[in-house]
Amino acid sequence: MIDLPSPNHDARPGLVDMLVLHYTGMRTGQEAIDRLRDPIARVSSHYVVEEDGRVFRLVPEERRAWHAGVSSWQGQSSLNDLSVGIEIVNPGHEWGYRAFPPAQMASVVSLSRDIVARHKIPADRVVAHSDIAPARKQDPGELFDWRGLSEAGIGLWPKVSTSDTPPDPALAGRAQALLTAFGYECPRSGALDETTQVVLRAFQRRFRPGRIDGLPDPTCIILLENLVSLAGRAPG
Ligand SMILES: [Zn+2]
Repeated sequence: MIDLPSPNHDARPGLVDMLVLHYTGMRTGQEAIDRLRDPIARVSSHYVVEEDGRVFRLVPEERRAWHAGVSSWQGQSSLNDLSVGIEIVNPGHEWGYRAFPPAQMASVVSLSRDIVARHKIPADRVVAHSDIAPARKQDPGELFDWRGLSEAGIGLWPKVSTSDTPPDPALAGRAQALLTAFGYECPRSGALDETTQVVLRAFQRRFRPGRIDGLPDPTCIILLENLVSLAGRAPG
């Protein structure tokens, strides 16, 4: 752990009970670290994990870092108040999205495991930036190994086997209910509107990365039902 203090933080109004994972989305890790420490940029995260596995601490966990922006999960907003943020170095979709190397993943696992244990963060509150801000964000993206993270005891991964199923717009209402029950901010119109497709895309990017089409299908429903049940949430 290497300390590289950022000035971009303030008082945290409550306790930590959420972990938000990001990618940096800049050409190099150094460029991202410089920005996260720049007082003009007014953004930060608690940690940055480099591709070679080095972990940098920018903001103490007891302070509020500025990483989530406008966001929502399980009916809560202002998620910087209650979350720890980890920035994982990757150029992202804009600059050449690529696989997260094993050394980096190993560091993300051990860092996350420690954070989740110390703050007793529930599995359904380990989220992607794209989960809590689906209209603005894609990070850490479909190449991130959420399944591996879950196998290491951090966050949720569906425990059902599924096959590929064709889209069915008639499942929009059911998908909306389940997405909402799990934590996403989603319309409840019963129709496959544009916002629902955006939220479905965020869900698929994380839990069904093989097909990210923003359309509901029976497999998405099965995965969502399983996740809602694993999280112990009321089923829509
Ligand atoms: Zn982010």
